[in-house]
Amino acid sequence: MKLDAPLIAGEVALVGAGPGAAALLTLAAARLIADCDVIVHDALVSDEVMAMAAPDAEIIAAGKRGGRPSASQSDICDLLIARAQAGKRVVRLKGGDPFVFGRGGEEVRALAAHGIRFRIIPGITAGVAAPAMAGIPVTDRSVNATLAFLTGHEASDESRMDWRALVSAFPVLVFYMAARNLERIGSCLLDAGLDAETAVAIIHAATTRDEHTTIGTLQQAAAGQLQALSPAIVIIGDVVASRTTWRDES
Ligand code: SAH
Repeated sequence: MKLDAPLIAGEVALVGAGPGAAALLTLAAARLIADCDVIVHDALVSDEVMAMAAPDAEIIAAGKRGGRPSASQSDICDLLIARAQAGKRVVRLKGGDPFVFGRGGEEVRALAAHGIRFRIIPGITAGVAAPAMAGIPVTDRSVNATLAFLTGHEASDESRMDWRALVSAFPVLVFYMAARNLERIGSCLLDAGLDAETAVAIIHAATTRDEHTTIGTLQQAAAGQLQALSPAIVIIGDVVASRTTWRDES
C-alpha cells in the first residue's frame, strides 16, 4: 500500500501531525489531511496544521489535555468506528507520533477489532523535534549510547518508576508531560544519585511561534526554580550542556 494514496471510503488513517510546524509534516500526512471527510484531532495539533484541512471536512476536536474535560478514550474509539462504518474517509490526527505516548495503540486495536481498514502514518515526535530546535542532539557519541523517553505523569506514582535503575542505565532522559511534575522529577533524580549540576533543558511549544527554551541545572529543577509551561519537553543529561544554538530564541 502506498502510504500517501487517497483513503478509501470507510478507511481510517492514524496520522502523526508532528510537533507543530506544518513544514515538519510527512508528505502522506499533508495529503491525507487535505483529502478526507472527517478529521478527529487532539488538542496538541497546531492551528497551522489544521488550516490544511479540506474546507468541507468535518472537524472534530477530541483533545486530551491535562486537567481539562475531554472526550474519553472509548468515546473517541466509538466515534472513529461510527464514522468509518458510515463510509467516511477518516483522519485521526495526533500531535507528534501517534504511537509515542499517544494512545494510538488503543485506537488501532479498536479499529482492528471492528474489521475497519486503517493505516498508520508516523510523525516526528516532540521528544526528538524539541531538543533539535534547541540545538540539542538526543544522542551524541561522546555522551550516550542509550536514550530514555519517559512520561512525567508517572513521577507521582513511585511504583511505576525505578529512579536509581533509570539513572544508572540512561545518561540522557527525555520527559514528555513533565511540566507539572518537574520539581518532583528533579528531586527524585537527585535522590537517585544524579549530579546536581546535570544540565536540564525545558523546551516549550517547539516549532510554534510560542517556542521557548529554558536551560538550568538539576538542582534548580528540584528547587522549583525552573519554569515549565505545558506543552514542554524536558531533557536532562550532558547533551544539553554541549548544545549548539542555531535559531533566535528571543
Ligand atoms: N504523541 C506526541 C506526544 C503526546 S504526549 C509526540 O509524539 O510528540 C503530550 C506531550 O508531548 C506534551 O505534554 C509535551 O511533553 C510533548 N509535546 C508535544 N508537542 C510539543 C511541542 N511542540 N513542544 C514541546 N513539547 C511537546
